[in-house]
Amino acid sequence: MPGFEIFGEEEKQSVTDVLDTGVLFRYGFDAARKDIWKARTFERQFAKRINAKYCLLVSSGTAALTTALAACGVGCGDEVIVPPFTFVATIEGVISAGAVPVFAEIDHTLCLDPDKLRNVITDKTRAILPVHMCGAIAKIDRIKEIANRHNIMLMEDACQAAGAHLGGKYAGTWGIAGCFSFDAVKTITCGEGGCIVTDDENIYKRADAFQDHGHDHIGTDRGKEGHEILGLNFRISELNAAVGLAQLGKLDRIIEIQRKNHAQIASVIAEFPDIQPRNVPDASGDSCTFFSFMMPGEDIARKTASAFAGAGVDGCFYWYDNNWHYIRNWHHIKNMKTAMPVQQTRLDNMRDYTKLNLPQSDDIIGRTISMQIKLSWSREDIEKRCDTMRSVLKGIFR
Ligand SMILES: *Cc1c(COP(=O)(O)O)cnc(C)c1O
Repeated sequence: MPGFEIFGEEEKQSVTDVLDTGVLFRYGFDAARKDIWKARTFERQFAKRINAKYCLLVSSGTAALTTALAACGVGCGDEVIVPPFTFVATIEGVISAGAVPVFAEIDHTLCLDPDKLRNVITDKTRAILPVHMCGAIAKIDRIKEIANRHNIMLMEDACQAAGAHLGGKYAGTWGIAGCFSFDAVKTITCGEGGCIVTDDENIYKRADAFQDHGHDHIGTDRGKEGHEILGLNFRISELNAAVGLAQLGKLDRIIEIQRKNHAQIASVIAEFPDIQPRNVPDASGDSCTFFSFMMPGEDIARKTASAFAGAGVDGCFYWYDNNWHYIRNWHHIKNMKTAMPVQQTRLDNMRDYTKLNLPQSDDIIGRTISMQIKLSWSREDIEKRCDTMRSVLKGIFR
């Protein structure tokens, strides 16, 4: 991670294919486009790659979340269970759909804890939206069981988990709809982009219409298409799709490199018994974008993160102190500071997020460090990194 590290001729050629036709729009212009359909081709190939029936490419992961929630009919007053450790876009999607985010604890998978879901399920819960953080999948089989038992929809934020799987079943395909991001720093990138995958034809059709002003995309004359529902514009452009299509061709290679580099980092961490690696329910399905581990305490975690940075071991994230991935510093969400005023009746439905108490998540994230796994590391880079990590950690545990 990220895919931009291995940009090459393939991306350039793919973009040139589009520029040569002059058709940047993903629909229509059948004659001018000379049979070049980058968005459509990406959708077919990505669906096939992860064994989903339908894929719909849109303009971002956030747009994918908003579109998926709308397509599933999740909205006003509905509660959606989310983790407190995610990129803030998950919560933005839920709020923009008009629904109420309800936070539940994460466990050592760094994803929602299936055993803590029951505590937050109410008669207003419409969906559980786990996030497969940092390249690996949640205990999604157990989360699915609980969703089924309570007759709640399971949706997935798989924005960080393209190509990850549990027992061979891919992230994004466990629930009724899965969302991916192909923004500039994700495993594969369109520059900006995202997609929704689903096996449900009706949800696909609603999502397809919603992201394009309600167009039903029936027939070959855009001017004569029907519009059953209102929508918005979350369309992808052919230029972005072109980059994504070239990147998709590299996904297997990206994951293979990440797994190799990840294993080397893991072997250094394994020399220190006081460090607990992240629990990954199926290690063979980890896409290995990050290596995450938990230190014995918060102070020692902070000390380690800054010692790594000081020694030149870059790309380490101590999430507890940043303000985009963990709820502790999401003051705008806690105080519901939005650009568009939120109706009082909706605010009344929300919990008082300033008083949220998530001790298990605080404990875990307070001790967690994630190291980004780069594609561009040379053998010497990794060896040097491992040596430096080893000497920093020896100093810490002396
Ligand atoms: C990146 C990301 C998103 C949002 O995707 P964008 O394409 O940047 O809008 C949503 N959720 C998670 C977990 C992400 O990492």
